[in-house]
Amino acid sequence: MSSWFLFSGLLFTLSSAKMTLQRFLAAYRSFFFPSPVKPPFLHICQVGDPVLRSPAKIVNPEQISSPEVQQVMIQMQQVMKRYDGVGIAAPQIGIPLRILALEVTPKRERELGAEVYAAREMSSLPLMIFINPKMEVLDFTKVVFPESCESLRGYSALVPRYKAVRLTGLDKRGEPLELESKGWIARIIQHEMDHLDGRLYIDLMDPKSFQNDAWQKINTHQGRVKIQFYEK
Ligand SMILES: [Zn+2]
Repeated sequence: MSSWFLFSGLLFTLSSAKMTLQRFLAAYRSFFFPSPVKPPFLHICQVGDPVLRSPAKIVNPEQISSPEVQQVMIQMQQVMKRYDGVGIAAPQIGIPLRILALEVTPKRERELGAEVYAAREMSSLPLMIFINPKMEVLDFTKVVFPESCESLRGYSALVPRYKAVRLTGLDKRGEPLELESKGWIARIIQHEMDHLDGRLYIDLMDPKSFQNDAWQKINTHQGRVKIQFYEK
């Protein structure tokens, strides 16, 4: 009887050791050979990713309430917050659908200062999500200001944009939504609409104004500067 207990105890010890080893090997494998993460991502895709250069597809209105489409919109909000952005388009998290989100919080004025804020005709905007958005230009006057994009992290350039636009589309419940805007918000809208057509600001910029935003820091630190492609 006692030898049976000893034997079953040994079997148990061996099988638990085997499980520990399997767990260890799985952890080792995932550390050194991570499996690719599938979109929607919780990070922002960078220039070079084909998803940023392909026209995004129209969302079937019947699919808006589906868990998949709702999840895309939740993650777009999460990523925009995480990266402290003012706008995001679904292709930026790897989803080729015509969805964009906009949000300008009042803290921007504190960050940029009242002078820059006024010069760029900035204003705050509560979170708005547009599905299948359509843009109409209301004022064709071009305004030139520096612009950057989280999909070209670390760079900026001067980009001309129309002064005022109207955006129409559907909200996250599939109800019609409209926004008339001028100045900075009109700029953000044009930037995000471009994302849905596979265009980036570098296609429209004044090429000579293109800059690495850390160029001075790079000189100060003798090149020892990193561009971080994630936000905690
Ligand atoms: Zn962008």
